[in-house]
Amino acid sequence: MSEKNNLIQIRKHIPAYVTLVCVSKFHPNEAIMAAYDAGERVFGESKVQEVCAKYESLPKDIHWHFIGHLQSNKVKYIVPFVELIHGVDSIKLLSEIDRQASKHNRVVDCLLQVHIASEETKFGFSPDEIQAAVNDATNYKNIRIIGLMGMATFTDNKNQVKSEFRLLKSIFDSLKTEFGLSVLSMGMSDDFELAIEEGSTMVRIGSSIFGNRTYA
Ligand SMILES: *Cc1c(COP(=O)(O)O)cnc(C)c1O
Repeated sequence: MSEKNNLIQIRKHIPAYVTLVCVSKFHPNEAIMAAYDAGERVFGESKVQEVCAKYESLPKDIHWHFIGHLQSNKVKYIVPFVELIHGVDSIKLLSEIDRQASKHNRVVDCLLQVHIASEETKFGFSPDEIQAAVNDATNYKNIRIIGLMGMATFTDNKNQVKSEFRLLKSIFDSLKTEFGLSVLSMGMSDDFELAIEEGSTMVRIGSSIFGNRTYA
């Protein structure tokens, strides 16, 4: 398996204070177990059915992060076991996570997604809305907002990506003390080193570990 060698290379560029989320979406259990055997315990998935199946069949000390776009009607399936939901992008979704979490007597950690990219297709609160959203979230007893998440524009223009990460970091810094935020989830295979330079504390890396995904 090449996962182990890929991880050795990637780990050299990730400081100890940054959490690596191994994005295993669309990859089989064997690939996850290769990364697990190399010492990784945090895995990110973007489809509810897929993460539930993997949770059932893989070791129970894996920490599952949900990184995809989550629909309210599917929250109930992941709330019993998910460790962190990255992409919370509406108050409606927050209230449903809270409702399901209270049924399970859990407090679920979440990140609010901020829209920093120039593409219109990426989800998230706008920089203008985010403070009010973080504030609203404090009303939900079974949710803990521990930070923010964002995705840069899909472009080769490093300066653009850098300025988008910088924007997210400045928003994070403006809210972290008042709301007790500690996690800034930004950076993927192509831009994680830049993201870490700009203040990321959590990177989500898929294809550099597991190879290209085939969307069957
Ligand atoms: C798929 C995905 C990733 C991983 O992307 P790679 O380019 O394969 O590293 C990271 N974050 C989110 C939100 C994703 O959907």
